Amino acid sequence: MHPAMRSLYELQQLDRYIAELRRTLEKLDPGEHIREEIQRQRAILEQIKREYDTLHAEAVDQELQLRQMDEKFREVERELYSGRITNPKELAALQGDLDYLKRRRSDLDMRLLEMWDKMETLRQQINQSQERMNEIEMRYEAYRQEYEYRKASLESEIRFHEQQRDELARQIDPEALAHYERIRERLGEIAIAKVVNRACDFCHTLLTPYLLKQLEQGTELITCESCARLLYWEELDPPR
Ligand SMILES: [Zn+2]
Repeated sequence: MHPAMRSLYELQQLDRYIAELRRTLEKLDPGEHIREEIQRQRAILEQIKREYDTLHAEAVDQELQLRQMDEKFREVERELYSGRITNPKELAALQGDLDYLKRRRSDLDMRLLEMWDKMETLRQQINQSQERMNEIEMRYEAYRQEYEYRKASLESEIRFHEQQRDELARQIDPEALAHYERIRERLGEIAIAKVVNRACDFCHTLLTPYLLKQLEQGTELITCESCARLLYWEELDPPR
């Protein structure tokens, strides 16, 4: 067999291993799904916070109204009991004002209580959402560390094997190497097929006695007549 075939076959093993490492690297999941979850959770948290802020502003406004109403109430009360007004009609009207203010105040009180309740619920929801955010962020952080570690390991393994590949390639007859590269470019990762039971192990075509003879003579590179891959006959290549 051609003297370059053993090294070419070793080179193909290395090339295939490097390609496999590259595929694994490409498939590494950088954790986008966790980052998206964080964004979703952040949107929820912000929505609740906005709701809380709106309610809080409303409550402050209502309390102000309440204080103004109390002032008005005291004013009317003072007038009613000042003794200045004696006209029964006027007195009845003032009493009517007081009753009206009392009712409105009680309504406002009720409304404020409801608002405080709702705000308390929202505060709890904010805390829960914040906790959930922290938990996912920690999970993302841990995931990214693991990802970066695996990515760096794969990259260094690829670099190591590429160096080995370059060293091996330098030792191979340039013409034979170029032949291998051409086939690889055209047919993909498997440019060399083994001969097993006198057949090409890639396409399983039985090799002609003439081709086998040529392989044995080992003066040139032989390709399978059917799939055009270089043929490597391991039995002709006693271990060194
Ligand atoms: Zn073949």
